[in-house]
Amino acid sequence: MGRKPGAERTYTLTVPAPADMGYDVNSVPEDSPMEIELRLEAIMEGVLATGTISARAVGECVRCLDPIDERVVVGFQELYLYEAPSDPEEAEEEEFVLEDDLLDLETVLRDAVVLALPHNPLCGPECPGLCPECGARLADDPDHTHGEAIDPRWATLSQLAEQPVPPADQTGSDITSDDSKE
Ligand SMILES: [Zn+2]
Ligand SMILES: [Zn+2]
Repeated sequence: MGRKPGAERTYTLTVPAPADMGYDVNSVPEDSPMEIELRLEAIMEGVLATGTISARAVGECVRCLDPIDERVVVGFQELYLYEAPSDPEEAEEEEFVLEDDLLDLETVLRDAVVLALPHNPLCGPECPGLCPECGARLADDPDHTHGEAIDPRWATLSQLAEQPVPPADQTGSDITSDDSKE
């Protein structure tokens, strides 16, 4: 592509995802295909790259631990300069400079996709998560109960309280003999 301002090209690319794109709980599998719609537009100081990426993201719902396998589609735009700014103060922000008329898309794509990936992925916006008492998936069985909610620290005590009181005649001969003396 020439450097004549106004020149424009569009591309449709499929590239394998790089490694470590995402977080522990949500990431793009390495080598999975990422589809990229890319438009390059020559402007005075460089090339403006605009496009969208569609990538597969796999992870785990942070509430119910169900696997998540979904598509993230994210737009991006980055200006690639023909030359690095001569004034270093202008280069405070991260600048992309064309090297041998090649542009480094990977960093831009990675940043865009990683930003778009939720840190706390959910299988669905209404995921009820797991039962705090038994760990069952509440989505499968939303109405299950465990009787009255009992603080586990009190459970043992209440079990003791529920034990049947032994009948009086089995508590020991002492009491019966006391009664008989009266
Ligand atoms: Zn979930
Ligand atoms: Zn439960």
